[in-house]
Amino acid sequence: MHSIDNRIADVRQQVARAAQKAGRQGESVRMIAVSKTHGIDAIRVAARSGISDFGENYVDEALPKIMGTQALHLRWHFLGAIQSNKTRDIARNFHWVQTIDRRKVAERLSAQRPDDSEPLNVLIQINIDAEPQKAGIAPEALAEFAARLLELPRIRVRGLMAIPRPEVEPDMQRLTFRRMRTLFETARPAQAECWDTLSMGMTHDFDVAIAEGATMIRIGTAIFGPREPRQHG
Ligand SMILES: *Cc1c(COP(=O)(O)O)cnc(C)c1O
Repeated sequence: MHSIDNRIADVRQQVARAAQKAGRQGESVRMIAVSKTHGIDAIRVAARSGISDFGENYVDEALPKIMGTQALHLRWHFLGAIQSNKTRDIARNFHWVQTIDRRKVAERLSAQRPDDSEPLNVLIQINIDAEPQKAGIAPEALAEFAARLLELPRIRVRGLMAIPRPEVEPDMQRLTFRRMRTLFETARPAQAECWDTLSMGMTHDFDVAIAEGATMIRIGTAIFGPREPRQHG
């Protein structure tokens, strides 16, 4: 009943329905399977169901999974807080980094990206609800921040990512996603060559995010089931 393949089929159906309701093509929404805390077997099952993009929050946890699935040619997205001493591992092993909010970190990633790899795709994380404890830059700071990132040769700035505060009211959630969409469209830097990605929406709110223009959704629980609490670190 609740196997990973069935869950993926369910989520795909919900994505298609949400896209259709919004007058969008289902293919305009890329689904990232967030596999943190889940093992390599679960990732293989999801890959067999056609998922090609996976998200992880911790470098040490992610590396064995990335190494162990190399033959599958998956794309890996880094979604966690970035410690300076981990940038080299990230630059070498991930295809996307969705949590950029410090120039220093972006500089390191650009410098450490191997020459024989494509430039690293990055998203700028926005602290859309101005939550003091949360990562991300303020919307007002975006234009200048993005302009600086575009100077870095080995990263490719693709757009924005946000983890909005969960709202009880769907209408409130909708307004937050709408603010992200507006920011994404109005803040497009003139020099950006591929500003095409707005990453928002998780298990509990991806339908609303799709209605409001998400091009990438990050789904953990709805695909892999509930997570065990993290044991360390
Ligand atoms: C864990 C995580 C997700 C997935 O969350 P679910 O609610 O399980 O779908 C998405 N994005 C980020 C940044 C995460 O850390």
